[in-house]
Amino acid sequence: MPVTAETAAALARADEHSAHNYSPLPVVIESGAGAWVRGIDGVDYLDVLAGYSALNFGHAHPELLAIAHEQLGRLTLTSRAFQHDRFAAFCADVARLCGKDAVLPMNTGAEAVETGLKLARKWGYEVKGVRADCAEIITCSGNFHGRTIGIVGFSSDPDAREGFGPFPAGFPSVEYGSLDAMANAISADTVAVLVEPIQGEAGVLVPPDGYLAGVRRLCDDHGILMLADEIQSGLGRTGDTFACDHEGVVPDVYILGKALGGGIVPVSAVVADRDVMDVIGPGRHGSTFGGNALACAVGSGVVRLLETGEYQRRSRQLGEHLHGLLKELPPDRVTEVRGRGLWAGVQLAPGQPSARVICERLLARRVLAKDAHEGTIRIAPPLVITREELAWAVGQLADALVG
Ligand SMILES: *Cc1c(COP(=O)(O)O)cnc(C)c1O
Repeated sequence: MPVTAETAAALARADEHSAHNYSPLPVVIESGAGAWVRGIDGVDYLDVLAGYSALNFGHAHPELLAIAHEQLGRLTLTSRAFQHDRFAAFCADVARLCGKDAVLPMNTGAEAVETGLKLARKWGYEVKGVRADCAEIITCSGNFHGRTIGIVGFSSDPDAREGFGPFPAGFPSVEYGSLDAMANAISADTVAVLVEPIQGEAGVLVPPDGYLAGVRRLCDDHGILMLADEIQSGLGRTGDTFACDHEGVVPDVYILGKALGGGIVPVSAVVADRDVMDVIGPGRHGSTFGGNALACAVGSGVVRLLETGEYQRRSRQLGEHLHGLLKELPPDRVTEVRGRGLWAGVQLAPGQPSARVICERLLARRVLAKDAHEGTIRIAPPLVITREELAWAVGQLADALVG
């Protein structure tokens, strides 16, 4: 299925006046519903990326859309200078979902991560008594936490880092998955560790069993905070509300984003108990759009969906189905399939075409997927996808691997 002239023209038009910080697959989408999107070429594509998990509930989820439409006509933004009538409920809803006391709403994931880092540093100085301006937060190799200067400074990806220095100090990095490395990096100045329960951008890397519980134990033993970046792994993606749930681990700070906005608006949040959150007082942190009325209404809707348990159940059951199907892919082409729930990283064998080429072939077969690092195809469909659609998508992948 070749790219139509209209699609090619639309892509060229975008190229003309947009920054070239992405290299999207050659498709131009005009509408979407559930797990499907329609291109301006009139073709329906199955979306198995789901906006990097920002679309866990699919495109145009009817309940979320109704909430957004109603809220759009009533009130969208007050700034935090004034309070609006959706704010209290949103904070209570997200706090309840996390089993925590307090919520600090932001917009994007990167902002929520930055907020978590600021919170941990201030807690370190005020509660733990770390020397002024010496706080360290341990990070992990292969991490992805967003694109701010602060965050890319502790990225191990040269594309994310190079050309953007100098970077803030105080973020030592240790090998992801190694408790020994983490233990060795902890010093008297350590205030927190920042960890993805599963590393999405790195290629859906699942740490060894017991890793998260071990991180929790280390944090307890040393009196430091465990910050879990659940922006991509959370909110149903892995078959539980949070990926930390698989090891029964409760971090001190949840960092949420992506699906919290229902695929409609950017909504992110940092969630913690009072003893941590209350080190941030009035005027010490904020955001013009953070916690706006539209975001809060949609975010509360997302929590309501998650509290039914239906999406976690779907992710768990369909995830087993997905991983069962992916295991059948030919071992000469696929060396490993990683992941949990409706989330998979399909590792291509050496000598195979690049993951990008496979994704281009998938596009021609009406499946939208995305390559991650190191020859990995990432599969993270909306949790509303059906068994039949999943089987069809994996069938297309099997064919795309061949040519
Ligand atoms: C996407 C992502 C972020 C950054 O979120 P943005 O909304 O793009 O700023 C941070 N952490 C993880 C784990 C992510 O997947």
